[in-house]
Amino acid sequence: MAPGEVGRGARTKFAIACALLIIASLTARAAHAQFGVPWRHTPTIIIISAAGDPRLSLVDEAVSFWNKTLEEVGSGFRLGPVGRVVQPIPEEALQSLSRAIVGRPGPTEIPEALRNLPGDLTILLADSDFVSFAGPFHAPGKRVVGIKNPSWPPLNLPNVARNVLIHELGHAIGLGHNSDPAMLMCGRPASCRPAAFRSDVPRIFPLTDGEKAQLLRMYPADWKPRSAIGSGHAAA
Ligand SMILES: [Zn+2]
Repeated sequence: MAPGEVGRGARTKFAIACALLIIASLTARAAHAQFGVPWRHTPTIIIISAAGDPRLSLVDEAVSFWNKTLEEVGSGFRLGPVGRVVQPIPEEALQSLSRAIVGRPGPTEIPEALRNLPGDLTILLADSDFVSFAGPFHAPGKRVVGIKNPSWPPLNLPNVARNVLIHELGHAIGLGHNSDPAMLMCGRPASCRPAAFRSDVPRIFPLTDGEKAQLLRMYPADWKPRSAIGSGHAAA
């Protein structure tokens, strides 16, 4: 082998290593927060909770809010039908995933107990205390939203649980955070926290014009289910 060939080989290996590093870092970022990644099919939504959980009607309100917003911005995308399942909540798995999402950058490992839930988008109304979250896509067309016990602050403050649910569903359809505490999607790294949603009058915090434009970019007017996965759930 000539010296020149060794050099070329080394350069090629270096180039491949760089490419892999870039892919790894992009994947890590995507898996951490995974904002801006749209659904490719109409997601069925399953709520897992205790019987008669007072948050059930808030989830219905949240889904209606997003479908009305999508309609108003001219999008062809809608969240699918909402089903309800009463079964035990894997509390420790939710706490662990919440810590992973909130606490550190990097790939997020989805606990086994949360991998095979019945919905495309499964919303778990939990009984324990953690930072409510929307998880990344962990399998084709599968996401998890975890909502903490509403009797813990700040969810026990008037109007907060309503907006936290809508905020997390906003993440679940691809929106990220802004830094304006008067807005629905304000969040880390800005200092606003859910207590800012407190209001004696029920009200849903607004979206920015940029977020509405982003919704329409992710889900345009002619949006159609693009993969076989879940296409059976597509709205007629
Ligand atoms: Zn958030």
